Amino acid sequence: MTKPPLTLYLAAPRGFCAGVDRAIKIVEMALQKWGAPVYVRHEIVHNKYVVDDLRAKGAVFVEELDECPDDRPVIFSAHGVPKSVPAAAAERQMLYVDATCPLVSKVHIEAERHADAGLQIVMIGHAGHPETIGTMGQLPEGEVLLVETPADVATLNVRDPGKLAFVTQTTLSVDDTADIVAALQARFPAIRGPHKEDICYATTNRQEAVKAMAPNADAMLVVGAPNSSNSKRLVEVGRRAGCAYSQLVQRATDIDWRALDGIRSLGITAGASAPEILVNEVIDALKSRYDVTVETIETATENVEFKVPRVMRQPA
Ligand code: SF4
Repeated sequence: MTKPPLTLYLAAPRGFCAGVDRAIKIVEMALQKWGAPVYVRHEIVHNKYVVDDLRAKGAVFVEELDECPDDRPVIFSAHGVPKSVPAAAAERQMLYVDATCPLVSKVHIEAERHADAGLQIVMIGHAGHPETIGTMGQLPEGEVLLVETPADVATLNVRDPGKLAFVTQTTLSVDDTADIVAALQARFPAIRGPHKEDICYATTNRQEAVKAMAPNADAMLVVGAPNSSNSKRLVEVGRRAGCAYSQLVQRATDIDWRALDGIRSLGITAGASAPEILVNEVIDALKSRYDVTVETIETATENVEFKVPRVMRQPA
């Protein structure tokens, strides 16, 4: 039977960012250095495949530090942690390695610097996301106000409208965040903030590639996890850019083939925590049903790399 033709647009850049790459290497190096088990507080990055792979090598994933024994190393995930977490680990004399992405740490430092200058912080982010919890947790409870939408800005109760600064989660939608920043600046003209926002290069570049690809694609698949903020944003960006069927898939088995019936073109991208092996799995599944021609849609080149900290002294 002849396969129907399919033009496959492959977004570039896509998939792993420098922060995710570094965090995974930290767990692998810790396992090599100290042997199993090494504990990891929260999924090191939001991807089941990555987590399962590290678990098979001896990593134990927990949600809270209380679940870790004192005498095994613990790693904090790429999303960052509230200050209370390393403080509790130090108190228990635990060996810990912080795999927080340096671009998230930069936001932590920004928030602290503003607070030291007497400013109250407004964080633009998603309630309950570990990165938001981590950034808000750099300052005492109640000090950082969270806004998720422009509507939240209207009801914000601040100490002094003249003494405010904002920071953002790194994995937000660039366009939605611009709207929230505009609402903040309209209501609080003196508010200080980063030049644009704190959305990282990887999030921005992946969204730009989707904007270029989506208008020409009959459908789009985003390889990523349902708890991955930047992957979910890519789906939204795809829909808004004109590709109504933009769908998140974790693996090839998640593809809804009936929904793809009759398409002639398909865009593929991957969230910053999705490994390329899963993109290839999806492409192979498409090749088994379609006569695929691959076209790369490249909107940026990335050469960011973060140094992996030396993983370090032996436990006492
Ligand atoms: S998405 Fe951005 S902030 Fe998050 S780990 Fe990757 S580079 Fe760092």
